[in-house]
Amino acid sequence: MTIYDRTEKLVSAFLPNKSPKSFRFDGFKIGIDADPVLAETFNGQVMMLTCFNLISRFINNISLGKIPDVPVLGGPHKGRGNLKKEIGEIVMQVNPDTALSLLKRDESTDVLIALGRSDCDSAFKIAINSDGWIARLEEGPEASVDCYDCKSNPIGAQVASCFASAEVFKHILKLLGSRNYAVQNPVQSICFSAFDYSFDSAPSQNPELPEELDLNEVILVGAGAVGSSFVNTLAFLEDVVGRLIILDFDVIDITNLNRYQIAGWKDVGKSKVNVAASFLSGSRLEVAPIGKSYESFVREDRPDKAFDTVVSTVDDNAARQHIQSDLPRQILHGATNEQTCVVSRHDFLHDACLGCLFYSKSITYAERIHIETGIPLEEVEKALTTNDPFSNIHLAIMVKERNVDPKIFSQFVGQPFSEVYAKEICGVLGLTLGAKAEAATVSFVSSLPGIFLVGEIIKDKALEMNQFRLDNYLQMSLFSLKANTPIIRKKDPRCSCLCYEPIMIDRYKQKWMNVLG
Ligand SMILES: [Zn+2]
Repeated sequence: MTIYDRTEKLVSAFLPNKSPKSFRFDGFKIGIDADPVLAETFNGQVMMLTCFNLISRFINNISLGKIPDVPVLGGPHKGRGNLKKEIGEIVMQVNPDTALSLLKRDESTDVLIALGRSDCDSAFKIAINSDGWIARLEEGPEASVDCYDCKSNPIGAQVASCFASAEVFKHILKLLGSRNYAVQNPVQSICFSAFDYSFDSAPSQNPELPEELDLNEVILVGAGAVGSSFVNTLAFLEDVVGRLIILDFDVIDITNLNRYQIAGWKDVGKSKVNVAASFLSGSRLEVAPIGKSYESFVREDRPDKAFDTVVSTVDDNAARQHIQSDLPRQILHGATNEQTCVVSRHDFLHDACLGCLFYSKSITYAERIHIETGIPLEEVEKALTTNDPFSNIHLAIMVKERNVDPKIFSQFVGQPFSEVYAKEICGVLGLTLGAKAEAATVSFVSSLPGIFLVGEIIKDKALEMNQFRLDNYLQMSLFSLKANTPIIRKKDPRCSCLCYEPIMIDRYKQKWMNVLG
């Protein structure tokens, strides 16, 4: 196994007729150069560090342009040394076999990324820049994007870096002979707002970040690829306070390194939550790394389920349904599939809930209860029709068939069956999934939803930005960027969390009555 296994799978999807002995991106060289003025700004440095972080995960030959000898101004690398040294550290931590050299003016690279502008020539040139929430990209021999007096904000800078990395990836696929439409058609010019997800030459909204951002409590479920991007972006926000609980029971393996922005080869074998917590050690956040599944965390640590904001980055439908069934005030969700990513926001009352996005299959309410509890279907249908109470016999069947702990459910004996199911059982017992195939993926795809999720947290916690929160679903292809705008997904009658059932809606309203007003 190597760092390139998952990336090679994605490459294979675009170049299906060759079976390589080695990683097909070997032998390509990327240059990254910066306008020296920009290299002394926060945004310029975020772009520089992010581009090296993302690109060194799929390219092993990179040249760095001439940059001034300046300290790192902010984020997780602040205070550790100067910018050039820190770039070297990042690249060597990702893959110590990477050749990192200094870019010469007449040197030929396969692709050159210019932060702002660059005098160096290249067969293919991508210029990026950022201003606050805005990410800009231009392609062409003379491409440049000047912006010197820009609002500091890591979000636009990191999004621009993801876009540039995607264009590098596409261009190498093109050089390797891919006939894919998106690969053959570079994006050429983009001005994108991570604030309202619009593509426009002059976005109307670009507010400053709040002076201080209090998360209160946010629970991050999953410290995988999207989760570590979320942590990475948080680490670049200077004044974030509050409590971040990070849940994941897994450890890092080498095939994760092609996209886990906070991890390097020294972290292989370490717990994902501990790596995430140590990445945030310089921040003002109170971080609680918990090496458990969401299910165990709720059962053992927080049976109250009073969760204001849950950020779900798990790749597991049962866990997603479980999170939604616990009715947090809001869920922010991020996921990826090959070259596309998804972010969504769910308050349970309006539009699709997280369960709607991941319903298992079309089954009746009674069938669902039967599957979850093991209680025979005829008995479930009878109990629902007559509204019989939840009985000791029902409980005994659940203990025998589903191995539930009788202590948890015995207190509900005697209460109406439908209510006990809706309030106490639904989604809690979980469903067993088979082993998953290792997905084809790459760094910049899983990075983007993590960045957007931090943006959504900012918009949620800063009251004046509330109206710009995502409503409610955005799917984005990193390969054909302009084809994406947010949409409202409707509630799905097949939803296993029953978000259209009045009894569940009432339960949510009662739980969050004081917040909803
Ligand atoms: Zn739903």
